[in-house]
Amino acid sequence: MSRERIIIWYRNDLRLHDSEPLDRALQTEAEIIPVYCFDRRQFSTTSFGFPKTGAFRAQFLLESVADLRQSLQKHHSDLIVRFGFPEQIIPELARHLHASAVYFHQEVTAEEIAVEQALKTNLKAIAVRCKSFWGQTLYHRDRLPFAIDKLPEIFTQFRKKIERESTVDRPFSTPKTLPPLPAIDPGELPSLNELGLQPPLQDDRAVMVFKGGETKGIERVQNYLWTGDRLKTYKQTRNGMLGVDYSSKFSPWLALGCLSPRLIYQNVKQYERERVKNDSTYWLIFELLWRDYFRFIAAKHGDRLFYSSGLQGILIPWEKDWEKFTLWQQGKTGFPLVDANMRELAATGFMSNRGRQNVASFLTKNLGIDWRMGAEWFESLLIDYDVCSNWGNWNYTAGVGNDARGFRFFNILKQSKDYDREGTYVKHWLPELAKLPPGKVHEPWDLLPVEQKRYGIRLGVDYPAPIVDLFKSAKVNEMIYNKAVGK
Ligand SMILES: Cc1cc2nc3c(=O)[nH]c(=O)nc-3n(C[C@H](O)[C@H](O)[C@H](O)COP(=O)(O)OP(=O)(O)OC[C@H]3O[C@@H](n4cnc5c(N)ncnc54)[C@H](O)[C@@H]3O)c2cc1C
Repeated sequence: MSRERIIIWYRNDLRLHDSEPLDRALQTEAEIIPVYCFDRRQFSTTSFGFPKTGAFRAQFLLESVADLRQSLQKHHSDLIVRFGFPEQIIPELARHLHASAVYFHQEVTAEEIAVEQALKTNLKAIAVRCKSFWGQTLYHRDRLPFAIDKLPEIFTQFRKKIERESTVDRPFSTPKTLPPLPAIDPGELPSLNELGLQPPLQDDRAVMVFKGGETKGIERVQNYLWTGDRLKTYKQTRNGMLGVDYSSKFSPWLALGCLSPRLIYQNVKQYERERVKNDSTYWLIFELLWRDYFRFIAAKHGDRLFYSSGLQGILIPWEKDWEKFTLWQQGKTGFPLVDANMRELAATGFMSNRGRQNVASFLTKNLGIDWRMGAEWFESLLIDYDVCSNWGNWNYTAGVGNDARGFRFFNILKQSKDYDREGTYVKHWLPELAKLPPGKVHEPWDLLPVEQKRYGIRLGVDYPAPIVDLFKSAKVNEMIYNKAVGK
């Protein structure tokens, strides 16, 4: 064996474009050994007993890994696929293949860091070098105008300083060709069944069919920005809930790293040059900054992201009311906006940002239920689950996040009227409300018996009565919150 061998450990970076580990390894002219390891722990259960990776995300992950393998094969290489514990499997591979180093993208949260550290220890024991890179954010950590431990606790301060003082790096280019793999069994991808899951049913009411992988991710950028020309109105449409193009839907591909945010940025800049530059084109970058912010905040605060008391350390005596929680999960709270969104999530693995904010607010500010139960339910179901964005947003909505300012709750009724005036969205997911006129659809509890008859709905039978009083429940939870913060 003459050339050095470097293992590229793929994690949430399932792409060939904009990959620093790959780029750096190629610069050394080493033989490249790409590896993906399905981590057994990711297919166990969460602390509240939900499947840690539900069927929607598992399927998207399998598609993404398969796509990466195909791309590597087209580049004359291949992907070694294994199932188990990366910190054991990778050192075994390194020893077997006489690899001298392992390159990978680092993560920032507890479970992922624990794996990295165990891997480093095991590689050190066999004298294999380990090199990690930063690669999930739009702005590189090393280009931030502050150290991570000095990161502003207010998003706007973070954003303004970044926009003034930092720049986005150009993406690393996609390699044209790769060295072939040494002789080794590349391994089969597991099936959903082998991961302990059943294939999810495709619901034709879904916003779109999300298919995993870099190829489909790039196709979505092409369709949303260029073919569909949607970016120019993103700011006006992004709060929608129905249909494929109200927002970019980039999140599942971003979460698994099939798309790099820098590639999106590059496309937005090109769009601004060639088509139009306006509030909407800026706003997509603004939202990607939120994504960056949650990742940097997670890096700064460590495990506190997952504590019941959140990043701010507010000790709220959250309820663990499983009866009400189950009604929330199943979309049977009696509040159409909440129920429609929760049913969409259960049926498709996706929910709009507007929906997520409302259902999370309802769970925490109206039902007073432990926000971590909601966060874990999202973790289980969301195709686009991203540990930092999910737990960061839940911290924020529950009022325990770093940037949380007092007890703020979403007025579900106002939100329904503002964002679903005609009730088209709720009727899409709640067919039992289909005959109700727009003026009645968001408050079915007010229907008189004669109206129930007219619109073919029996309250408490076809559609549930509200499980709480919207305003009284918010008041109670506000008092609990204020007591916890010493107000
Ligand atoms: C309770 C709660 C949980 C959430 N969990 C996740 C999660 O697990 N994974 C996830 O990617 N997003 C999460 N979000 C953020 C947001 O809802 C989704 O990113 C967005 O709905 C995805 O749809 P899109 O790609 O069409 O978004 P667009 O509106 O098109 O936004 C473009 C991109 O910007 C980023 N972005 C937008 N809004 C946010 C935000 N509030 N926080 C962080 N990044 C954002 C996403 O990467 C998104 O793909 C959560 C929000 C809430 C309120």
